[in-house]
Amino acid sequence: MNISRNFTFAEFEESPTAKAKGIVNVINTFEIRDSIVALVRDVLQPLRDIYGKPMKVNSGYRCPELNAAVGGVATSQHTKGEAADIHTGSEAESYRLAKLAKDAKLPYDQLILYPTFVHISHKLKGEQRQRILYNSSYRGKKF
Ligand SMILES: [Zn+2]
Repeated sequence: MNISRNFTFAEFEESPTAKAKGIVNVINTFEIRDSIVALVRDVLQPLRDIYGKPMKVNSGYRCPELNAAVGGVATSQHTKGEAADIHTGSEAESYRLAKLAKDAKLPYDQLILYPTFVHISHKLKGEQRQRILYNSSYRGKKF
């Protein structure tokens, strides 16, 4: 089912790790669904429109079992449907995508730059922290 013009719930549930390990990674509460809808509506689709080309979701929703399997911290926003890792393929592209989100003043909670993707989060409730962080393996340009 479509969430917006360019995003579907299926891509938020898609996970090669879940498939390989037989983990059923399914959005199973209204709160998680609402969080994903808000993330897409307020941040990802507007960013996609500015970016002007496809944005691949590497990792969207993670049920607790999948989150543990990929080594995510227990409090990961992915388990709440509040985060998506968007594939970029390079540090320059991670910077470029983050800069578009920053310059457009999109209501993100956190942007975390990685060498080949950007973690983008948005909280369903409360204030967005508007933070930009860098993974320790990221060697690209910083703000
Ligand atoms: Zn992430």
